[in-house]
Amino acid sequence: MAGNCCNPPSTARSQRYRTILWIALAVNLGMFAVEVAAGARADSASLLADSLDFLGDAGNYGIGLWVLGLGLAARAKAALFKAFSMLAFALGVLGSALWQALSDSLPDAQTMGAVGLLALLANLGVAALLYAYREGDSNMRSVWLCTRNDALGNVAVLLAALGVFGTGTAWPDLLVASSMASLALSSAYQVMLQARRELLSLSPAQARRS
Ligand SMILES: [Zn+2]
Repeated sequence: MAGNCCNPPSTARSQRYRTILWIALAVNLGMFAVEVAAGARADSASLLADSLDFLGDAGNYGIGLWVLGLGLAARAKAALFKAFSMLAFALGVLGSALWQALSDSLPDAQTMGAVGLLALLANLGVAALLYAYREGDSNMRSVWLCTRNDALGNVAVLLAALGVFGTGTAWPDLLVASSMASLALSSAYQVMLQARRELLSLSPAQARRS
């Protein structure tokens, strides 16, 4: 899920590979918007939580496209910015899960199922592209790990949809949402620590240069 996945390689230089990264960025941003909109419409906190991963991955592809050529300080600052956005969004997801628990609303299982499936297809499609056009230090293992984690999140949403449908309660949705948002919180925190370490390790001159 969000965090230790979907980091594009730092040595991608060919135009073709950059095009693939652009496609991955567009798909992830698009699916982020779709899941946020569908999550709000269908009262589904787990769809909102799953959108966190698309946001995080879009951030990684954006950093891969724009920031990797710059210095370590610029990369660390971009990572810090990404981590802060994810932290804020994860807290928002937890808040909305709490709100839904209190307001006793029932998520729309059909929308959850349909959008969860679309998200799974989007992740598999991006993985297939990245794998077919892999380059530099992007290897089979990192594409596989990233895809597996993302697909697990999508399958969790599908299971939550099934649970909501079966039990007629919101609890499966809230359970999946809070565990996904907690995972995102902890990985955003790790990214923040790492970025802070990197920024502190730079001399003032290095930091100014990049
Ligand atoms: Zn991911």
